Amino acid sequence: MPETSFSLPEATNFIEQIINEDIAAGKLRPEQVQTRFPPEPNGYLHIGHAKSMFVNFGTALKYGGKCNLFFDDTNPSKEKTEFVDAIRADIHWLGYEWARECYASDFFDTIYEYAVRLIKEGKAFVCDLSAEEIKATRGTLTEPGTESPYRDRSVEENLRLFEEMKAGKYKDGEKCLRAKIDMASPNVNMRDPVIYRILHATHHRTGDKWCIYPMYDYAHPICDYLQGVTHSLCTLEFEDHRPLYDWVGISLGFDPKPRQIEFARLNITNTVMSKRYLKKLVEEGQVHGWDDPRMPTLSGLRNRGIPAAAVRDFCSRIGIAKAQSECEYSYFEACVREYCNANAERAMAVLSPLALTITDYEGTEQLEFDINQAQEGAGKRAISFGKHLFIESSDFSLDPPPKYFRLKPGGYVRLKNAYIVRCDDVRKDEAGNVVEVLCSYVPESHSGSDTSGIKVKGVIHWVNADTCVDAEVRRYESLLRDAEYAGQDFSERMNEESEKIVPCAKVEPYLAEAAEGTPFQLMRTGYYKKCTEGGKLVLSEIVSLKDNFNKPRG
Ligand code: ATP
Ligand code: MG
Repeated sequence: MPETSFSLPEATNFIEQIINEDIAAGKLRPEQVQTRFPPEPNGYLHIGHAKSMFVNFGTALKYGGKCNLFFDDTNPSKEKTEFVDAIRADIHWLGYEWARECYASDFFDTIYEYAVRLIKEGKAFVCDLSAEEIKATRGTLTEPGTESPYRDRSVEENLRLFEEMKAGKYKDGEKCLRAKIDMASPNVNMRDPVIYRILHATHHRTGDKWCIYPMYDYAHPICDYLQGVTHSLCTLEFEDHRPLYDWVGISLGFDPKPRQIEFARLNITNTVMSKRYLKKLVEEGQVHGWDDPRMPTLSGLRNRGIPAAAVRDFCSRIGIAKAQSECEYSYFEACVREYCNANAERAMAVLSPLALTITDYEGTEQLEFDINQAQEGAGKRAISFGKHLFIESSDFSLDPPPKYFRLKPGGYVRLKNAYIVRCDDVRKDEAGNVVEVLCSYVPESHSGSDTSGIKVKGVIHWVNADTCVDAEVRRYESLLRDAEYAGQDFSERMNEESEKIVPCAKVEPYLAEAAEGTPFQLMRTGYYKKCTEGGKLVLSEIVSLKDNFNKPRG
């Protein structure tokens, strides 16, 4: 009788539906649900892995079960300890805790024992064909493969050869161990797949103990079982491997046998997540490193100042489905923007400074400035105002187009949180460029107590030239150009202008005083993270204010 003394959580996706069915059928209790997040330590985690973590950790959390961190280190030549450490740090940053940390290599002894068992039961054989020969005899989707001439070796011979393989008697690729399944199977993965190969390589954990290594498809179900994984959640490309996953479990008599469930990978427009490609960018110096703010790696997102909560929220909103789909990058940005809007303090910074002098204003004054009007109770702070200001050069036009509501000769504009000013005159340099705008102000137009009766359409931001500080501002665009370049090789789609540096912006001193990493909304400019590099104040873009990804910016 299935136990029914607990209440099942409501399933919000097809994976939870399957788990609920398993629980209802009495196969396990909710708190026995166990998953694992299985990165290969051959690179840094990216936003696609965030989805995998959301699915694996999230599902376990929902049932009160466990999720392990499982390092798939069956491929010794590409794996490094540097990556293991980075992966751990990224998981913590995203806000997840694993129950147990383990490695495929922890189980190498048992995986080997199981292989011996398969040989003894006539379910595996040592094959002398080369990798090319195995490939050539594997058949096609429409034609069966050909059986290996070594398929009918005796159990004794297989045991001896496998032992010799382990002892290092053979060179890489000289022999391998194959499962004896069915060369005529409609599923190519079932045509006597290789389960052990010879590889004389030093492993980052087991050193030179082994010169034979299990193949992923064979090792994975065993590692899942030995860890107590009940539901092995993976991406869709493993769907065709499930019969092999099940074959291993059944052949070795696993009870309870872990159940593999596949879901669709996260794909995002204009964003390449393959580790191989990301590694290439790093190695070729196209980016400053794995944690470059333009990289879709988790360390890149963190360095960019993107809140982990926004990444989790994004994963939750896109949902878990079986069908492949592609998500717009702008959707991810919208999630980030929503968090920043709610949490980032407001400040003013002028990226392309133009001097503005209020000829009839004397002295200084402290004005009130909303810390974050989107956050209840955030309150106000003081900003200093004076005679000499900087405004954005794009907020002034000598020869304005129609409907230009910013500053123009003879025109009025409101200085944010301050006064209405009128442009009376300009000062030009020898080349005829405007270098200073001369204004008069309307004393009774003070923000919040405006009795001037003057209606202005434009509000512009500014900084006090006497108190402001210099900052380097870094703005980012996608690493890849889109649309018309789609389909071309990534190397031909590189956006040469994905990083733009503004070396000398003028910003409020408040920004220099803020803690490292504090996010700000620079009014009318975007969301930026404050940092200091070699004594220099740097403001680095988190996300634009509006959805203008990949569109040219002025
Ligand atoms: P890559 O191709 O980027 O190297 P991978 O699949 O080889 O990715 P692994 O380290 O093997 O990287 O991945 C660990 C887990 O994360 C796997 O279960 C994998 O299915 C999952 N994963 C990787 N990329 C994505 C993605 N874009 N969306 C969802 N899950 C992903
Ligand atoms: Mg992989």
